[in-house]
Amino acid sequence: MSTDKPKVPAVEGWFESNGPNPHLIGGQCEKCGTISFPREKSFCKNPSCDSTSFRAVPLSQRGTIWSYTNACYKPPAPYVASDPYVPFGIAAVELEKEGMVVMGQLAHGVRVEDVRVGMEVELVVETLFATEEKELLVWKWKPVAS
Ligand SMILES: [Zn+2]
Repeated sequence: MSTDKPKVPAVEGWFESNGPNPHLIGGQCEKCGTISFPREKSFCKNPSCDSTSFRAVPLSQRGTIWSYTNACYKPPAPYVASDPYVPFGIAAVELEKEGMVVMGQLAHGVRVEDVRVGMEVELVVETLFATEEKELLVWKWKPVAS
């Protein structure tokens, strides 16, 4: 599905969709280096750190599937679902470098039967749904061709 409509991120500031290397945008504590996603803006996730300043950092584009399921109901935030809701495969992926788990829809054409725990995936940006004026983009996980 591709149109001439402008493509905009479904959530502003959570991922970079322009250019050849789409990636999630995390927040890194400027004091202790703890990384958060979605980006923390007020309190550090590290309980022993009192920092309130964070910088935006690109997160790993690759990770391994930690868990996955068929999302037959509309998932809660921070997941962004299409409206009307269409069931899809969803994966919890442990990012290569950060070791943190980020949820995401499986890429277009990838079925739950196609993935398994431990499989390497990479982040892709696809259209979530289109409105009259624009296409809304979201990150998804796609198995790395081996
Ligand atoms: Zn900190």
